[in-house]
Amino acid sequence: MVSEYLVLGAGVTGLAAGVELKESAIVLEKDSSPGGLVRSKCFDGGYWYDYVLHLLHFKDPEIQARIGSYLGEVMSPCPPVAWIQTLEGSALYPFQLNIGGLSEEARNKCIVDYAKAYYHKNGEATEKNYKGYLKATFGDAMCDLFYFPYNEKMYKYPLEGIAVDDLTWNLHRPSFEEILKGGFQPNIPRPTYNTNAFYPCPKQVDAPLRGMELLSEALAKRVRNLELNTKVESVDPTKKTIYASKDGINSSYTYETACLSTLPLPALIRLCSNAPASLLKEVDTLQHTKVISVAISVKGERPKNPGHWRYYTDPNIPFTRLIFMNEFDPQASPEDGWALLAEVTWPGKEPIPSEKELTDKVVEAVRAVGLLDDNSSIVGTHIWVIDPAYVIFTHETQRIINNCFEFLAPYGITSSGRYGNWEYSSMFQNIKAGFEWAKKVNKKSLA
Ligand SMILES: Cc1cc2nc3c(=O)[nH]c(=O)nc-3n(C[C@H](O)[C@H](O)[C@H](O)COP(=O)(O)OP(=O)(O)OC[C@H]3O[C@@H](n4cnc5c(N)ncnc54)[C@H](O)[C@@H]3O)c2cc1C
Repeated sequence: MVSEYLVLGAGVTGLAAGVELKESAIVLEKDSSPGGLVRSKCFDGGYWYDYVLHLLHFKDPEIQARIGSYLGEVMSPCPPVAWIQTLEGSALYPFQLNIGGLSEEARNKCIVDYAKAYYHKNGEATEKNYKGYLKATFGDAMCDLFYFPYNEKMYKYPLEGIAVDDLTWNLHRPSFEEILKGGFQPNIPRPTYNTNAFYPCPKQVDAPLRGMELLSEALAKRVRNLELNTKVESVDPTKKTIYASKDGINSSYTYETACLSTLPLPALIRLCSNAPASLLKEVDTLQHTKVISVAISVKGERPKNPGHWRYYTDPNIPFTRLIFMNEFDPQASPEDGWALLAEVTWPGKEPIPSEKELTDKVVEAVRAVGLLDDNSSIVGTHIWVIDPAYVIFTHETQRIINNCFEFLAPYGITSSGRYGNWEYSSMFQNIKAGFEWAKKVNKKSLA
């Protein structure tokens, strides 16, 4: 089959590109439904879970309006409330603005250490490794209580080995006056990077689909040529040809002008028939973590004001976050219950533990943090793995990514999206990237 453009992968990046390119593109997706990470699951007779915590936040009014028009009235404002549980008490997110929620001693230490960091070197945090950057930005006490244990738990990688480049966009560095204010008037919601947020909430109780997958559905409906169950098996860049399999039958797709791949970058390079051995070696060194999502359907009274999600710094608690699905959509479960999603991170190259072992540990920890009482019962538990989930951006990563892009560019292949760019990015950023890539290549072909 020949088409002007080919898009590999129907996550939100590939879908956005497909929407924009109309009939001139074919989108190939290995799974039986579109959306990639942005999908939802329903279990136990009406308990809904997103694959991972998914809140849609925008920084561009044009894209917000466009997605709003696709989703219609289900797109509901959802300014998030998130709590951070430390060993010295809990604070509303962002942590640094709410340290008054901690014990008095911890709060005072956080204030003193912040002042030392803030007034050092005129407040410039110039360190190039994440650990040094966090310490120079927030001071020792906040790092010891939250930033270090949480990030170590999440990345499962030494923080000294992580580069700051990819990670500063969601770190707010307040003035010292703001820190003091939060130290004495804590836990007041304040605007952050994700305040302009939305979540799809259908009004009907028996809606056939709930959760963030509604976003993928809205995009997929607008893609003209979407081939599901079609797995890219190899790529011959010199022939601009993709070899794929569908239900055991092999087929080939040739693009005339350009190809967008949203597959994880190392996987794409491995599929390219002419990838140099040196590049293959380099992509093997790229690091990531997996996320194991553990869904727990509970029958019983819903927790009172738990927030949309809570961060847990304690290394003895297996999850990094607990996500309260009913806070996003009150109808995410039957009325007499609630849907809880635990996020467990795991080193990218290590095999995952047995389902039973992990579920038992997670349920035990949920009880230990006081969220399951004797009057509640568990209706069902379910596990799935996101791999890759979080990219680990080491000091070598950018150089390797650039080498990959340089190799692909002469063949008209662009690698984009969260894993195609091998980055930490949001749905909004990737939808925008998909639209923009399509506009750019379309202009070129008209020129
Ligand atoms: C734990 C976690 C929490 C997050 N929270 C948020 C949040 O709150 N807000 C937010 O905006 N973003 C969040 N994100 C980020 C968001 O999920 C991503 O930015 C977005 O989903 C990436 O879309 P994508 O299309 O680039 O990639 P993907 O969704 O990974 O899509 C790639 C597609 O390629 C397909 N594919 C792979 N290999 C092949 C093959 N060989 N052949 C054919 N198809 C193939 C896959 O099946 C998939 O459909 C979160 C991500 C994670 C992991």
